[in-house]
Amino acid sequence: MITREQILKTAQEHDSFYLYDESMILKQIQTLREHFRDVSFLYSVKCNPNPEILQTIAGQGLGADAASAQEVLASLKAGIKSEDIYYSAPGKSSRDIEQTLGKCILVADSVGEVERILEETRKKKETVGIGVRIHPNFSFDQENAAPSKFGIDEEQFFSHLPKWKEDKIRICGIHVHLRSQDLDTDRIARYHQNVLKLAEKVQKELGYELDFINLGAGIGIPYGIEDREVDIRKLAEQFELFKKNVSVKNARMLIETGRYLVGNGGFYGMKVLDKKVSRTKTYVILSSTLNGFMRPSLARLVEKYAKEEHPAGTEPLFTKTDAFQFTVYTQEEQEEEERVDLVGNLCTAADVIAEDILLPRLQPGDVVVVNHAGSYAATLSPFAFASLGRPAEILIHAGTM
Ligand SMILES: *Cc1c(COP(=O)(O)O)cnc(C)c1O
Repeated sequence: MITREQILKTAQEHDSFYLYDESMILKQIQTLREHFRDVSFLYSVKCNPNPEILQTIAGQGLGADAASAQEVLASLKAGIKSEDIYYSAPGKSSRDIEQTLGKCILVADSVGEVERILEETRKKKETVGIGVRIHPNFSFDQENAAPSKFGIDEEQFFSHLPKWKEDKIRICGIHVHLRSQDLDTDRIARYHQNVLKLAEKVQKELGYELDFINLGAGIGIPYGIEDREVDIRKLAEQFELFKKNVSVKNARMLIETGRYLVGNGGFYGMKVLDKKVSRTKTYVILSSTLNGFMRPSLARLVEKYAKEEHPAGTEPLFTKTDAFQFTVYTQEEQEEEERVDLVGNLCTAADVIAEDILLPRLQPGDVVVVNHAGSYAATLSPFAFASLGRPAEILIHAGTM
């Protein structure tokens, strides 16, 4: 765990900063590996592309789930082998395809993209397998499948297969991803089972074995204080059981994971810059709130305006209104408490991360730390706003804790 000394010491040099705890990242990797024996995990780089974190994860032998050509290149640079990098994202340009061909496994996100990848491979006179992202007929909640901008609808996929076979296109694997941040073990297990059944059907139509079946992500992490962890042991046991009942014995099984690895190993620290009283309120002004870590401010905004408690399709911008907790580190011992608003130093009134909360009395130089800052935090924040600059990002190596 990151210590009070580390936080106060870092705050002497930086007004706002991310601290990443490498030992927590390693522990999460170990938990997944211990239970899922025959599955390879892919790190979803977009949740935190910090080069040192990427190196740590690459060093553990994980592959990469890249969401852009840039992430393919960053993964290579971190030491991940091209055959372990899967590039799956909607709307890849011809340039993206050209830049990454031969450096990763390309996963086509539409019928048009299958053709564009084929065109590039022909230009380069290469024959490579193409992965396809399928938008399946099932959903997480056993409702009818909704339309999606991701992947190729299952029906469309099967209706295109004969033509692709004729054109000698080798479909080498499938990718399905429907949801992030689920905490219901049984629901994720059922989803895995559905993907395996789909893979079996795909193999049967293809007439040969798939190289890989990418089951996407889903495994969430506790954010709210009432959230409970996914039961990884049970999830893995269920998966093994389902796998025995489908004839996809030789395909490489892949599960993507971003936040599970790094989300709770990251902390965002903001120094108290000023404190002022206006009429009935006491404002504590912190360094780079909305612009340094956007999601806590967004949670306040959603709380004000959302009609539904869990609006769909808002991850990873919004998880839930009580997703972040605050800890304060005062320079001096402080016994007194006071009710304050925590706001940032941006020139917008929307720059609020907490209202009317009771905290130990804060003074300039003290530090407020937000948790769950390892994923969709630094990478998802508008650092350029008001030219306030980037917070520092520091990985605390496991050996030095
Ligand atoms: C963002 C994303 C992930 C990562 O989701 P987490 O909730 O961070 O694990 C995995 N797969 C795909 C396709 C994604 O777009």
